[in-house]
Amino acid sequence: MGSYAGLGEVGGKRILVRSDLNVPLDGDRITDDGRIRASVPTIRALADAGARVVVTAHLGRPKGEPETRYSLAPVAKRLGELLGRDVAFATDTVGESAQAVVGGLTDGQVALLENVRFNAGETSKDDAERGAFADRLAALADGFVSDGFGVVHRKQASVYDVAQRLPHAMGGLVAAEIDVLRRLTETPERPYAVVLGGSKVSDKLGVIDNLLGKADKLLIGGGMVFTFLKAAGHEVGKSLLEEDQLDTVRSYQQRAQELGVEIVLPTDIVVADSFGDEASARVVAADAIPADTLGLDIGPESGAAFAAALADARTVFWNGPMGVFEQPAFAEGTRAVADALTRVPGLSVVGGGDSAAAVRALGFAEDRFGHISTGGGASLEYLEGKPLPGIDVLLDEGA
Ligand code: ADP
Ligand code: MG
Repeated sequence: MGSYAGLGEVGGKRILVRSDLNVPLDGDRITDDGRIRASVPTIRALADAGARVVVTAHLGRPKGEPETRYSLAPVAKRLGELLGRDVAFATDTVGESAQAVVGGLTDGQVALLENVRFNAGETSKDDAERGAFADRLAALADGFVSDGFGVVHRKQASVYDVAQRLPHAMGGLVAAEIDVLRRLTETPERPYAVVLGGSKVSDKLGVIDNLLGKADKLLIGGGMVFTFLKAAGHEVGKSLLEEDQLDTVRSYQQRAQELGVEIVLPTDIVVADSFGDEASARVVAADAIPADTLGLDIGPESGAAFAAALADARTVFWNGPMGVFEQPAFAEGTRAVADALTRVPGLSVVGGGDSAAAVRALGFAEDRFGHISTGGGASLEYLEGKPLPGIDVLLDEGA
């Protein structure tokens, strides 16, 4: 060990690691440390190999300057607990504190730099401004490991530009995510089913477009289903509807038919009188949604049908909850799909922040799924067939 392809021997070197430590906080309490846990193996492996590990990450969306509520200080503490070793914390990203902390590291020690988005250069659209900031980050290290899968679709200084300035390698977490995404797009084991839900069709049009040519079945639930039901000629009451996508959805139905891809829509729907009104929840036929109600989950018949449609699948990709799972009256459709995924005899993948949260909130053990992606946006962009700048830059020659 101790050698990362592209970096050579890491012992004694300062290695900058871009991790995704963007965890939800309540004050300075971390409410879900999943992303920190996912980042630990790469950091530990580098430290064990004798590297001086300098971790950089962002938290939230500060506007290019320091903001106390977005400080990574609580994350440094939790990272230290999970690693079982001290993590030195720099109170800036590339300034005096960072230089002193990095300069003080000995072999095998770990430091975390303050929120990289406290610097306007990080997310700047101006190549020169981003590059100038990347120069300062790169000056802190001898090599770079890209391990923040949640940000690899971003052309940002700590993801993209810094890789052009230092010898670099892909971290284990990013490599594992990319490996799963390749299995979903290159030679998926068949039958291959894709389950899509969540709130908006327009968020996921690109994915439908690209996966229609690859999947055998496409199951649609969640808020996006009402645009499909409407396109099929049904009334959807006050349900979420994207009128401007009706033609696009019809064109997907057409293409699916031509390609022999089965689009499975729910046959029953849990409706309510108003958003979130659990007391008024009731099941109606999908082609008979009363005008004064709105659909908030797929019904029990549909949940069973979706589970049956997944039973023989050997590859399943699921993105987007089937209903407003945050409320028990509208969570059963999501539960049915999650449960079906745990029984898939091949590769089952959960992508999307809310879908992953739903799986955990409904009490499913994470190890019952083939893979739960740590990066919703990045995995969707990959599945849309878009390039991921943070990956492409690692594969380029040179640096
Ligand atoms: P992901 O983060 O997994 O990609 P999305 O962000 O697309 O998922 O969607 C998640 C949200 O969709 C959840 O907050 C859920 O409450 C909402 N949702 C699901 N079904 C409906 C529905 N029928 N009407 C309104 N919102 C819905
Ligand atoms: Mg979401």
